[in-house]
Parts: sequence; C-alpha cells; structure tokens
Amino acid sequence: MTAERFDVAIIGGGCAGLSLATRLAEADLSGRRVVVLEPRTSYTRDRTWCGWSFGTHRFSSCVDRSWRQWSVRHGGEEHVHTSVRHAYEHIPADRFYETALDAVDGASHVELRKGVRAERLEPLDGATRIESDQGPLLADLVVDTRPELHEPRGPALLQHFVGLEIVTAGDAFDPGRVTLMDFDVDQTDGIHFMYVLPFSRRRALVESTILSPTLLPEKVYAARATDYVQRVHDAEIEGIRQVEAGAIPMSDSRSARAGLPGVVRAGAAAGAVRPSTGYAFHGIQRQTDRLTRAIAAGRVPRERPVRSHVDSWLDRVFLGVISRFPERAPELFARMASSLDAETFARFMMERQGWPDRSRVVLSMPKLPFTREALRLARS
Ligand SMILES: Cc1cc2nc3c(=O)[nH]c(=O)nc-3n(C[C@H](O)[C@H](O)[C@H](O)COP(=O)(O)OP(=O)(O)OC[C@H]3O[C@@H](n4cnc5c(N)ncnc54)[C@H](O)[C@@H]3O)c2cc1C
Repeated sequence: MTAERFDVAIIGGGCAGLSLATRLAEADLSGRRVVVLEPRTSYTRDRTWCGWSFGTHRFSSCVDRSWRQWSVRHGGEEHVHTSVRHAYEHIPADRFYETALDAVDGASHVELRKGVRAERLEPLDGATRIESDQGPLLADLVVDTRPELHEPRGPALLQHFVGLEIVTAGDAFDPGRVTLMDFDVDQTDGIHFMYVLPFSRRRALVESTILSPTLLPEKVYAARATDYVQRVHDAEIEGIRQVEAGAIPMSDSRSARAGLPGVVRAGAAAGAVRPSTGYAFHGIQRQTDRLTRAIAAGRVPRERPVRSHVDSWLDRVFLGVISRFPERAPELFARMASSLDAETFARFMMERQGWPDRSRVVLSMPKLPFTREALRLARS
C-alpha cells in the first residue's frame, strides 16, 4: 500500500500530543503538514490537571478554578500555605480537549485522525514509516507520545488513585483551601492520603491516593473517599458526579524502546511525569513550547532530559527512602510542608526550584536515612 507522507506525525492525541498539535496549528509552518494519530474516537473528561501557575500558558483559558491556599495534614496537625504569587489551578480534561480540538479544526495544515492506533515504526527513505491499524504513513519527523514500557531505575512505586466528585447534602468543604495530602487515614495498604479539591461548600473532588507497588480494586479507594467525607467532613453524600482513576509510575525510568533517527518522544513517554509527585502538565507545556519553536524554525528537535541530573538524583533518593520506610513517608511530606514557605513549596512541586530551594528541602529532611540512601545509590 502507498503510504501518505506528512512533515510531522504526532503519535497520541493526549495531553502532550494535543498540546503540541495546538501550538503547531497556530504556528506558521510554511505549508508543512501535521497529522495526529489517536486510537480513541471521542474525548471525555477522563482526568483533571492541577498544578501551580507560573504565568500564563496556552491552556490558561481552560482553568475553571484556582486556590491560593493548600494544606498538608499529618498526626493531627495541619500545615497551611497561602500564596500570593502561585495559585493552584484546576483544568478539567474536557475543556482542554475542546480547546485543542478547536485549534486543530481551525487549521488546514493539522489533521487529527481518531480511531487510529500506531504500531511499528521503521526508518524508510530518510523518513519514518508508521504502521498503524488503519494502514501505513510516512513522516519526516515523528513525535511519539505513546505511553511506554519503562525499566525503572531504582525503587518502583506507583501513585494509584480513584477520585470521586462528591456532592454533599449540606455544607461540608472550605472552598478556599485545597487539601493536598491528608495522611491521617488508614495506612495499611501503603502510603495513603486524601486529596480534596473543593469546588464549593457542597461539591469536591475527593481522591484516595496510595503510593505502593500494588493496585487495589477500584471500590476500595471509592469506599475510602466516601468514608472520609462522611467521617472527617461530617457530611451526608447526596451524589457522585464524576469518577477519575489513574496509576502513575513513580520511578526514574529509561525507555525500553530503542530510539530511531527522526523520532522524538514527548510527554510521559519522555519522562515528563515527575517521579516523586506525579505532576506533569506544566512540564509538558514547557516541553511542547520548545518542540514547537524547533519545528517552526525547521530544525529537527532533540529529545532533552526533562530534569537535571541533580533533580533526578534527589527524586531517586527521596523515593528510595519512602520505599524502604513507607511508615515515615507522611512525616517526611509534612516536614517538607512545614519547613518551606508557600512560594518555595510551589516552585519545588513544579520543578522551578533553584539551589536555595533545593538546600531548604534537603535540610528539612532527616539526615541518617537520606545519607544512607544516597550512599546506597552511589554504590549501585
Ligand atoms: C487520572 C490522572 C490524573 C492526573 N492528574 C494530574 C494533575 O493533576 N497534574 C499533573 O501535572 N499531572 C497529572 N497527571 C499526570 C500527567 O499529566 C498525565 O498523565 C498526562 O495526561 C500525560 O500526558 P501524555 O500526553 O504523556 O499522556 P496521555 O495524556 O495519556 O496521552 C497519551 C496518548 O497516546 C495515545 N495512544 C496510546 N497508544 C497509542 C498508539 N498505539 N497509537 C497512537 N496513540 C496511542 C493514548 O490514547 C493517549 O491519548 C494525571 C494523570 C492521570 C492518569
């Protein structure tokens, strides 16, 4: 079969693929054509993206709620941060998808092909041949955002969660404050915390999140979330609007797939998800800004590590300690929250930290387990 040829093929129309497609749709590509291949046939609100704002980005208009206050709770104590500079913002996936699909629809040089699953990639005639379940394509540049099988480097925990958007019969939540982590919950199945995003006094996304190597049946997380609302917020549940679930690898990993010339990866496939926190959305925006500049300038973008060696190493040490001593994890997260001010905390969580921030985080941690883990990693 003759393969249709494109200048750029983006494999995967999720967060990274559509972030890039939107920017390319709005860029002057001097007649070059872009295709996005995505297996799903329709988009739904399959997740929500949160993170701290550091100025505007292409999807700032999709933010439907933001908070200036957040807290971490452990051992009956609540550490509250109030930030004047960095709001914690919420983007529902359906708004993001709608904005991206509108941008792509409005550009004649970018095409989204839904219901297409890419399979094998191989170099051919100075381009890449993409085998798909709908036939082959050729592309001069491929941006591959398919989730990959990774070989974890170091300890491999998963951040697994189920979130319920819960509506209560009476007032139950403080709409001004996000609960980032409430560790004062059952810790028998792993490092467990509740995450509460209050949209109003009577509606919140309540997520039971566990850091451990093993997934649990979905109903377990759901039961914990509803029990939490009834017990801690002393509220009667009127209904559940949305459910979201995920399992994010918390490991510094390298790709198991060999790199090909003319193929760069983006998004989670390129390590955009921060192992110790699971945040990726804002990193993906920066990554796709950089890819867009290179593509618009006619350069072949290079795949660059998302974070510095130092930050990857610090993450590995932290993950090593909490994997070895899961019972200490709540205290470690609480120490971090109590010893950092709101702005430093936001910078650290969003990977905007400088050396003074890194030192503050390192100094807030207990020395012995961290030194031992650092030495162990250095020897391995
Ligand atoms: C439920 C959930 C909530 C999250 N919340 C946050 C948050 O609050 N803040 C934050 O910063 N991060 C969050 N993350 C982490 C991260 O931001 C997301 O996982 C983000 O979607 C990663 O973007 P991506 O493009 O790499 O992957 P995805 O968005 O998963 O996109 C990958 C795309 O590849 C497609 N695909 C798969 N196989 C093929 C194939 N063979 N051919 C073609 N296409 C294929 C998939 O259908 C998908 O559309 C969350 C993750 C999950 C799962």
